[in-house]
Amino acid sequence: MQTKNKTSVIANEKIDNKKLANAEKIILNLQQELKKYIKKGHGPFLAAIYDSKGNLVAKTANSVVNKTCSHNHAEMNAIKLAEKKLGTYDLSKYNLSIYVTAEPCMMCLGGIMWSGIKSVYYGVPSERVTKITGFDEGFKPNWFNEFKKRGITVYGQIEQSAGETVLKDYVANKHTIYKPTR
Ligand SMILES: [Zn+2]
Repeated sequence: MQTKNKTSVIANEKIDNKKLANAEKIILNLQQELKKYIKKGHGPFLAAIYDSKGNLVAKTANSVVNKTCSHNHAEMNAIKLAEKKLGTYDLSKYNLSIYVTAEPCMMCLGGIMWSGIKSVYYGVPSERVTKITGFDEGFKPNWFNEFKKRGITVYGQIEQSAGETVLKDYVANKHTIYKPTR
């Protein structure tokens, strides 16, 4: 059910150019801002949750290394913060969107599904994240359609090249590739 437009963006609905233009702006800003977070010791991923009126609800970076917790991915941190702020475990009534600099991993897809977030917009696809960094993003069979079935909209590969540059810099600067030994 994926559709493509000229910028190679993929989605699980017919691409809405207004939503896409908004997402491009937000994700490009996140990619830029992420560099500052990396300098402070964060992992190379940043997530922001917005409500349907465009108000920022939560913005958090990956903090696996600096907070020593394997599930402190950017998306999980943002969901935790949004739920704490809004005082609920069920975000569905707020019609929220999450914007992420890279495709959510298998854990974060679960976290998003359980949170009640309605839309997902991401930058670099997992296969590129894995190739560039060596992180193991997991296995996610048919997740675009599985999310569609659950009423969750997904747009991906937004401002991908800007995102890839940040990841390549992370590796070039020898920051930690955190993962279990196998
Ligand atoms: Zn994740």
